[in-house]
Amino acid sequence: MNKIKSIISDEFNITLTVTNSCNYRCKYCPPNLQNGSEEPILVETYINFFTNLIKDNPQINDYSERFISITGGEPSLYKGIEELISFLNENNFNVTLDSNGSAPKEVWERLFEKTNNTHLSFHPRYSKFPKFDELIEIGQRKNAMMSIGLLMDPEHWDRVLEAVEHFKQYNIPVSYKGVVARTKSENSVKKEIIYLLGNIQVCIPRNNSNILKRIYIKVLIEDLTGMTLIMFPILLKFTTKMEKLRTSNNKN
Ligand code: SF4
Repeated sequence: MNKIKSIISDEFNITLTVTNSCNYRCKYCPPNLQNGSEEPILVETYINFFTNLIKDNPQINDYSERFISITGGEPSLYKGIEELISFLNENNFNVTLDSNGSAPKEVWERLFEKTNNTHLSFHPRYSKFPKFDELIEIGQRKNAMMSIGLLMDPEHWDRVLEAVEHFKQYNIPVSYKGVVARTKSENSVKKEIIYLLGNIQVCIPRNNSNILKRIYIKVLIEDLTGMTLIMFPILLKFTTKMEKLRTSNNKN
């Protein structure tokens, strides 16, 4: 096996997309992250891979922290999820689980004990408050580190506002993620994003295409400053900085 060498930074960071199946059908989510078109890799294969990775590359032990993010689709639908997290945990990996929180509470009783950090995404069209409240209660009882990502779906805006208010009762970081429904025309998108800006906070859609980012930036410029797109790179820098600041505030 080839030796692994860090070429960018001294952070050890791997993201595993363990399944592309999901029990939700969010309109802003690409089909290949929800339709289950890919056969999942067996948990034994992951375990062998990481066992050999550590054995063949002992320098991995020099990293003070080794981060693994587990995502999907919905990762709790992956059959070997508990076994995989237990293995990573026993091998001193710092595991983050990114989930829509829909798994039964019995599963969460175990998952919260094994993961170092859980990021729960709240999707206004599907997620229910009682279920989230139950999860937060379990997580807090187990002293688990968690955060909530609220997807600001323009098609379910009342629920978004309700969720903003609802989660204020908890001492948990909440990040607001701008989304654009794939079926929307540019004009309606524009209005909704301005509304987002006016009411909540600056927030760049993270995983969207460059075209959507360009629409967003254009709206931002016209709305806030009246300047032209010549400012694009500067503004992009500024908003990225804002995003980082917000993320680090959430972590503190
Ligand atoms: S919950 Fe996440 S993975 Fe599932 S459809 Fe929604 S955005 Fe996609």
